[in-house]
Amino acid sequence: MQNGMVIIGAGECGARAAFALRENGYDGPVTLIGTEQHLPYERPPLSKDAMVSDSHPSPRTIAGDEQFSEKRIDFIARSTVAAINRPARHVVLEDGRQIGYDRLLLATGAIPRALPLAANSKHCVTLRSFEDAMAIRARFQPDARIVVIGGGFIGLELAASARRRGAKVTVIEAQARIMMRGVPEEIAHIIDSRHRAEGVSILCNTGIVSIVDNAENVAITVSSGNVIAADLAIIGIGATPVTALAEASGLETGNGIVVNEWLQTSDPDVFAAGDCCAFPLAIYGGRRVRLEAWRNAQEQGTLAARNMLGALEPHQSVPWFWSDQYELGLQVAGLADEGTQTVRRDLGDGAFILFHLDENGRLVAASGIGTGNAVAKDIRLAEMLIARSARPDPNQLAESAVKLKSLLAA
Ligand SMILES: Cc1cc2nc3c(=O)[nH]c(=O)nc-3n(C[C@H](O)[C@H](O)[C@H](O)COP(=O)(O)OP(=O)(O)OC[C@H]3O[C@@H](n4cnc5c(N)ncnc54)[C@H](O)[C@@H]3O)c2cc1C
Repeated sequence: MQNGMVIIGAGECGARAAFALRENGYDGPVTLIGTEQHLPYERPPLSKDAMVSDSHPSPRTIAGDEQFSEKRIDFIARSTVAAINRPARHVVLEDGRQIGYDRLLLATGAIPRALPLAANSKHCVTLRSFEDAMAIRARFQPDARIVVIGGGFIGLELAASARRRGAKVTVIEAQARIMMRGVPEEIAHIIDSRHRAEGVSILCNTGIVSIVDNAENVAITVSSGNVIAADLAIIGIGATPVTALAEASGLETGNGIVVNEWLQTSDPDVFAAGDCCAFPLAIYGGRRVRLEAWRNAQEQGTLAARNMLGALEPHQSVPWFWSDQYELGLQVAGLADEGTQTVRRDLGDGAFILFHLDENGRLVAASGIGTGNAVAKDIRLAEMLIARSARPDPNQLAESAVKLKSLLAA
């Protein structure tokens, strides 16, 4: 090996992978290439704290300049990889520079899904980068009319942030309820009620018919025939994995860059991890999924680094994500749609956890909601039970006096 390790994409996953290569004893060249102008930074605050903080925010960086130099990580910012030449084992940057690799990691992430009807509107925006966040933040003014198209996490977090800044908010959702993907109805209902109590108007079963710009605002005609005027419309209808580079270089892609349990693509020297990859989840019998979750990006970045160095350890983690809206904290461990039976455990002060069991009584997921971190400890324990393929007694799961720790010991 002489060229070293190259990582494309300097987000959560790529940055963690670069440092993990060093933590695992790799001494050769490490190059991290990213399109954005900043040091790698955290995205979760962009829809939350960065929208509501009193002082003007800066990106919350994952590591500082000095850490990159101390670990001898060559971080190339503001550079996009235009092509991968696999036979010659090098990547080509947009400026024509070529960088050779022994092993390559694609950590290209995801981008917001586009709404074609909004393509020509200058008042319709999406959120992924720090710059996107700052442009949105500037428009969250008292009494500004904000429309959020899509009732998923990012849209709803933005709705909560906009309300905290005094804006008037309407959420338009095509499905019968908000957070249809990955969150059980009982929990979505709590979040829906909380938004309505704040004065957010939520329109479900509502499609978009047309979007017409005026000089200062935009008119959105919805399927009921109503026209909603907005100073700003935020499109939050999901994300698309960034796979073009992988596809162009002949790697297998589907809903994401296809990898095996070691996060290896169809080329054994090229790995993919984080939001951009579709991987088999061992704990669900190898079901192929693509996650858009912060901890997954971290864990997969770290695992990809070890496997690039030859460890070939399988990915075995339980999926986990959180969302914060107003004072409410939501957490989901596992895949709730694997469950056929739900058991509720009340934790007091309105907090509760839903345990999802499959037809064999195996715990496959747990979803919880409460104030702040009220559900965090129990979700963590549930995650350990899920990882062990435990079949806990549903009566004990429902009984809050029975400590989850004792079920783990059993
Ligand atoms: C607003 C927001 C809020 C979120 N909140 C939460 C939350 O509360 N909880 C949670 O679990 N998750 C949350 N997430 C999801 C989490 O942030 C992502 O799962 C995580 O950032 C994915 O990391 P990644 O490195 O895979 O991709 P990304 O963070 O998207 O990074 C990929 C990077 O690759 C770069 N890139 C792409 N192509 C190229 C190329 N050809 N050359 C060079 N660079 C390239 C991109 O510019 C980007 O910087 C949130 C995401 C967003 C956007």
